[in-house]
Amino acid sequence: MPKHGGPAIEVQPRLATLVPERWPAEVVPAQDELLSSWQHRLALAHGLSPRHFGDCLGFGAGAWSARLDLEAPATLLNLLHRQTGVCRDRIAAMTIGGRDWRPLLLPLRHSVGLDRAGQMCATWLQFCPECLADDEAAYFRRAWRRASVMTCRRHGRRLIDRCPACRQGLAPFNQRALAPQFQCSVCGFDLRRAQAPKLAAATRQAAELIDDLVRIEAAKGFLGRSALTERLLALPSLQDPPCDQKFSKLSTAERLRCLTRIEPGFDQRLRRHFWADPDPIIAAWRRTIVTAGGIDASLQPLVRRLARRLDIDDEPAPRSRKRAAGAPAAELTSLLAAYGAVHARRRLLDKQAARSKA
Ligand SMILES: [Zn+2]
Ligand SMILES: [Zn+2]
Repeated sequence: MPKHGGPAIEVQPRLATLVPERWPAEVVPAQDELLSSWQHRLALAHGLSPRHFGDCLGFGAGAWSARLDLEAPATLLNLLHRQTGVCRDRIAAMTIGGRDWRPLLLPLRHSVGLDRAGQMCATWLQFCPECLADDEAAYFRRAWRRASVMTCRRHGRRLIDRCPACRQGLAPFNQRALAPQFQCSVCGFDLRRAQAPKLAAATRQAAELIDDLVRIEAAKGFLGRSALTERLLALPSLQDPPCDQKFSKLSTAERLRCLTRIEPGFDQRLRRHFWADPDPIIAAWRRTIVTAGGIDASLQPLVRRLARRLDIDDEPAPRSRKRAAGAPAAELTSLLAAYGAVHARRRLLDKQAARSKA
């Protein structure tokens, strides 16, 4: 404490001396954040525009960061790890990942227009304005790169794939100003203020079923060898009138419109289209999910069984399988964790029983 009783000021060594190789500002990767989104936030935190940051890293042309989302070279992973202290594996996990996802990604294109059939083209990235508004620091999710994701389950709205003010696709990698990611890099519109359209319940359920199927087959490791991707990409050929474009090449609005154009018997026809697979085991398994109407509904019996075995079935079973709007779907990881807990508990009980016998 100083003699005059004022605040004690302790002069610390320069940060650069303490951590010589680290960039000074810490930017923690967010849940499911795209590598490009994190790099743009890193750039801004250090007073650089994303475009200038790309130049500094030696990647600065066109969609530099969006290309790195597909596959980040080891040199970049090492550099980012060294400069930020974030674990290399965690940085690599922000990329799109395995090749099984590639056919389902939206094309790396941010200039927009109509295709040969007069339909709105896909852009490379979608967003939910309400998610951006809720974020502590607005960021773009990996899931928003996939053509199989068309809705935000948290907010129950459809995703948006272009700026509502200038109608251009998002291009944060081209941002030359020190502006946050929620500002359109073309016209400066605040994307958090965009109005995401509501969806009819049947369309939303069909869109979420598609997302469920893709996520669960990816999690189980057979997305790359099942027929699901091929059947999903061929969906526009089922619509009335048929279209020869791949599903992933259509804008978000057109993909959802495609689902509603599969008439007559939209629901049944879509389900039958998806439950077919040359592998009979995959076909039977997928049919269970499709018939139930999604992974959440199909897993409810398992969830209840697990809950009973974990002695947490005090609450009555839900009367309806319908999930409340905005409530999160059952996640495979949660279920696997619960399943692991059941086995751990059983092992413990077996050991206790063996000890008491002894
Ligand atoms: Zn949202
Ligand atoms: Zn704009």
